[in-house]
Amino acid sequence: MAKVLAVNAGSSSLKFQLFDMPSEEVITSGLVEKIGLDEGIFTIKYNDQKKVLNQEIKDHQVAVELLLNALVNEGIVESLEEIDAIGHRMVHGGEAYSESVIVSEEVVETVTQFNELAPLHNPANLIGLRAFQKALPNVQNVFVFDTAFHQTMKEENYLYALPYEYYTDYKVRKYGFHGQSHQYVSIEAIKMLGNPDTSKVIVCHLGNGASISAVKDGKCVDTSMGFTPLEGIMMGTRSGEVDPSIMPYLMKKLDCSADDILDIYNKKSGMLGVSGISSDARDIEAAYNQGDKRAILTSKLYARRVSKYISQYYGELGGCDALVFTAGLGENSAYLRKMIIDDIKEAFDIVLDEDLNKKRESGNRVISKEESKIKVMIIPTNEEVMIARDTVRLLKL
Ligand code: AMP
Repeated sequence: MAKVLAVNAGSSSLKFQLFDMPSEEVITSGLVEKIGLDEGIFTIKYNDQKKVLNQEIKDHQVAVELLLNALVNEGIVESLEEIDAIGHRMVHGGEAYSESVIVSEEVVETVTQFNELAPLHNPANLIGLRAFQKALPNVQNVFVFDTAFHQTMKEENYLYALPYEYYTDYKVRKYGFHGQSHQYVSIEAIKMLGNPDTSKVIVCHLGNGASISAVKDGKCVDTSMGFTPLEGIMMGTRSGEVDPSIMPYLMKKLDCSADDILDIYNKKSGMLGVSGISSDARDIEAAYNQGDKRAILTSKLYARRVSKYISQYYGELGGCDALVFTAGLGENSAYLRKMIIDDIKEAFDIVLDEDLNKKRESGNRVISKEESKIKVMIIPTNEEVMIARDTVRLLKL
C-alpha cells in the first residue's frame, strides 16, 4: 500500500488528489485557486466533507504548505511521512520523453528546454515541483507528460509539410496533448471490449479544450492537437484549425499584431466566437433549444468538426471497434453526441441507443445498440489516476 499525491499545478492554481494505491481510492482531493492574487481560495474534500478557506495565497510555496498542513490538521494523514511519492502533470516532454520519468535535476534541465513550447503550462508545472521538493525534500517525484502518449505517432502523422529543417532545428512538429486522458480512456475501452488481441479505438476528449485520438492496440496512431493545443477541432474558446493565411489578412484588417490574432484564436473563437453567446456547451444547448440560429449553427459546426476527424481516423485505423466520448462535454452533452453520430452513422453503420444516450448515469457505459458496427461508449476520464499509476509503477511502490 502506498499513498501517492497527484498534482496539477497551473500558473495560478494547484489541483491535487491523494490516492491510496493500488486500490486507487481517493483519500482526499482539492484545489488551490487564485494563487498570487489578493483573495486566494483553498478547497479540500475528504470523507464527504468539503472545506473552503479564503485567504491571500502569495505563491505556490504557500499553496503547498496550506495543503500539507491541512492533510495533518484535518487528520487525513497522521504525519507527512505517510506520503510515499508525488506525481506531477507536466504538459510538454518534447521528443525526449515517450514515457513518464522519475524526476532528477537532469530531467528538470531537459524539461525546462520545452518551456518555450508550452509557455503557459510547463513553467507553472515546474514551480509546483520546486514547491513540493522544498516542503518534502525526502519524497520522490515523477513527471507524467501530456505529450508522452502521442510519441508513438509516425513521421507522416506528426510532421507538417514545412521545410524539414524547421523540424530538426526548431522542433516544429505535432506533439498532441491530453495524453493522460487518451491513454486512460483507451485502456478502459479495451477492457470493455473484452481485452482483444487487437483493437481500434477513437477517443473524443471533448472538454473546454478538446482533442481526438486514433489508438491502435493501445498505442496512439494520430491525434488532433498539434504543435500547440490550438490545432484540431473547434473548442470552447479555441478555433481549432484555420487557414494560416487568415492571420496576416486579419492583421491588416484589424490593424493588430500576430499575438493579438493568436489571442483571438485562443480566447475569442470556438463556441464562444461562433455563437456570440458562451464558451460553455450548456449555454449553447439552452439557446439551441430556444431555436437560436447562431446556437444551432455552432452545434452543427462543432459536430461536423468532430465527425470529420472520426471519419479520417476510421480510415487511418482501418476500422473502429469503439468510439468513446469523454470529458465535460463528451460525458454530458447528449444532443451533441447525437449530432456527431448522426453525421457519420450511415457511413459507418452506427446505431445509437437514443435512450441510453440521454440517460444520466455515471461510470463507463455503452450507448449504442447491439447491432451497431461500432460500439459507442462514454468513459469518464481520470487523468489523475494515470498520474498515480505511473508514479507507483516507476518507483516500484
Ligand atoms: P472539462 O474541460 O472537461 O472540465 O469540460 C468543461 C466543459 O464541459 C464545459 O465548458 C462545458 O462546455 C461542458 N459541460 C460540462 N457539463 C456539461 C453538461 N452537463 N452538459 C453539457 N456540457 C457540459
